[in-house]
Amino acid sequence: MQVLVCPKCGMPIRMESLACPHCETPVMFDPGLRTMVALDDDAEAGDLAPCANRTMLCNWAVPREGEQHLCFACRITRRRPDGGDPASLDRLAVASQALRRLLVGLADLDLPIVPFWVQQGGLAFDLLDSKGGDQNVVIGQANGVITIDLAESIDAHREAQRVNLGEAYRTMLGHFRHEVGHYYSWQLVEKPGGPVLDECRELFGDERASYQEALDKHYSSGSPAGWANDYISEYATMHPSEDFAETFAHYQHIVATLSTAAEGGLQLVPPPGTHYCNRTIAPRASYADVPFDVVLADWRWVAIFLNRANHSMGKEDLYPFRIPEPVVAKLEFMHRVVIAAHTSKPFVEDVAGIPATLSCTA
Ligand SMILES: [Zn+2]
Ligand SMILES: [Zn+2]
Ligand SMILES: [Zn+2]
Repeated sequence: MQVLVCPKCGMPIRMESLACPHCETPVMFDPGLRTMVALDDDAEAGDLAPCANRTMLCNWAVPREGEQHLCFACRITRRRPDGGDPASLDRLAVASQALRRLLVGLADLDLPIVPFWVQQGGLAFDLLDSKGGDQNVVIGQANGVITIDLAESIDAHREAQRVNLGEAYRTMLGHFRHEVGHYYSWQLVEKPGGPVLDECRELFGDERASYQEALDKHYSSGSPAGWANDYISEYATMHPSEDFAETFAHYQHIVATLSTAAEGGLQLVPPPGTHYCNRTIAPRASYADVPFDVVLADWRWVAIFLNRANHSMGKEDLYPFRIPEPVVAKLEFMHRVVIAAHTSKPFVEDVAGIPATLSCTA
């Protein structure tokens, strides 16, 4: 993620910001260039206008002259609470921030984001609230539609779930990155089939295995002993599809965080006598043209540093995972799948914009 700075004073600024915390200039995020632009100055904003959902904390911009008053992220949200419950709308605003960060991460990876209005089975997000009256809200992905339970944006609820399920990490962004993994598994691996699907099944198992049986087994007898030697998380042991989605989420976590470190100018010089690492680690903004072992070597050391930084603040690991060799192979597969799907225009607005890698309809 490139460093976003206030267009007026140049201070670094959060992607979610509506105004610069330093000089208070109202800002909006231009998803096309992935930069911040000032909102109070027509000359600065150029041909951009704020998304109509700005009152719901959306800071994205839309073309001023275009027909759309809602940004890409708000339009790809297919269903949302109807507005009757202010608490639901607060949760929606929090979840939508994670959705926008997901989309920026995918765009940083040059992955095509084909929405439901462009293609049957395109991406859509149903952001529903089990605590706000929506019935049977189950987080998941089916035919491109990703359902997220807005209750997960309540810190106390999500943390209780995390502890109950014995998870090391549970965030709204993590949910989005996992679920979109199911979508890309379908689009980039299962649909094309052939060697990529064969290799995927070698690594992850056969995704056609009964999901219900796997689910029953997972919750009745738990995970296999020694699972951490083969999987990135306990949940990944449940079914080949879940292993893929968990691994895909990790690929996003890793490259997004490395990119942020790179854009922030981070370089790590290991102290003398460090056997684990004997070179200066300079993370890259993009790893698209290097093999995965470069990603991994950088990440292992950066993650150690970030974990130590967290410990200094009295927090647990930022990245509470270890990556055993079988998971390295799975992540390496993700790296190749993502690179093969590269497109120069990630936010697809019409059929002509669908890249060839996603245009097969099998
Ligand atoms: Zn400023
Ligand atoms: Zn918006
Ligand atoms: Zn899943």
